[in-house]
Amino acid sequence: MTRRILLFAADLRWMRMLITRYRASRSFAWRFIAGESSKTALHAVHDLHERGITATLDLLGESVHDAEQAHAATAQYLALLDDIRRSGMRSHVSLKLTQLGMDVDERLCQDNLELILTRAAAQDTFVRIDMESSAYTQRTLDLFRSIQPRFENCGVVIQSYLYRSEKDVEDLICCGARVRLCKGAYLEPPEIAYQRKGDVDASYARLMKRLLSDGNNPAIATHDPRMIDLALEFTQHNGIPDSAWEFQMLYGIRRDKQERLAAAGYNVRCYIPFGNEWYAYVMRRMAERPANIMFLLRNVLREARPGVSSASGKAR
Ligand SMILES: Cc1cc2nc3c(=O)[nH]c(=O)nc-3n(C[C@H](O)[C@H](O)[C@H](O)COP(=O)(O)OP(=O)(O)OC[C@H]3O[C@@H](n4cnc5c(N)ncnc54)[C@H](O)[C@@H]3O)c2cc1C
Repeated sequence: MTRRILLFAADLRWMRMLITRYRASRSFAWRFIAGESSKTALHAVHDLHERGITATLDLLGESVHDAEQAHAATAQYLALLDDIRRSGMRSHVSLKLTQLGMDVDERLCQDNLELILTRAAAQDTFVRIDMESSAYTQRTLDLFRSIQPRFENCGVVIQSYLYRSEKDVEDLICCGARVRLCKGAYLEPPEIAYQRKGDVDASYARLMKRLLSDGNNPAIATHDPRMIDLALEFTQHNGIPDSAWEFQMLYGIRRDKQERLAAAGYNVRCYIPFGNEWYAYVMRRMAERPANIMFLLRNVLREARPGVSSASGKAR
């Protein structure tokens, strides 16, 4: 129930305006994001590299509703690619199609995506298209399939909570696509998605085995220790080389696990979000672990009390 409320709130504009006013929420968000600029994000990439962990950078933003904003997001991604190149470090990037204008015009979105992919290909950088709510699943896969023959540096994401994912995984294996497998972070109805954690996990295990067996460089994106152990057992038992796949985890979550796996020689990539559009992303992280809510609420309420640094608290 708490998960549903939080995911519902993630889409509410007025809630975003309310929550992001407080410095306490911002410092809470900082646990999951690497600051607001590409400079701070690249610092995080550097720190992770020191610990043997690679990165994918996500410039936060989604659900853009006019062409101007979509062009601005595209320009920011192009600048990010230039910043990565200049830094001398290597990092993938992750993006969302609604950020590039999917809701405005699909042609505009595709043009923006192709601009980014072309720049990324020129510097040998890989781009992952994140998967958003089920309203976008088919359109995202269609767009991905249409550009994939021309852009080998692009991959997509599959969510194990959707019933349709079994077929999507088979189709993507057939066309040699690079897939990141996650459980899924949005609010979806029982008509199209498993609701019980046990069912989502069982689906994850099935899809993971298919991707590890026959997929192209799959990314196993989870913090779930049971899925991680299963991936390790399955690959060892079936002689699948460690170089043929990677773990992916989110910035600020289970750092201990990320470091241990990297130290043991496994490929680990950390998804590093940055930017000021952090509200929806952080709400989804809270929905995954509602214990965080009390911590956030206590701090926001303390800050909102009359006489307690209210002016300075309006950080944004
Ligand atoms: C690299 C990466 C990319 C992703 N990309 C997408 C995407 O494109 N589309 C999409 O829908 N979803 C995406 N997700 C989110 C994903 O769908 C899940 O919502 C999220 O990863 C939580 O699921 P889990 O597999 O970690 O397992 P869970 O069963 O949810 O969690 C397992 C354990 O991980 C830890 N944990 C999980 N989440 C948190 C948290 N927020 N705070 C603290 N601890 C936590 C806890 O210890 C928990 O017990 C991505 C996840 C990762 C790791």
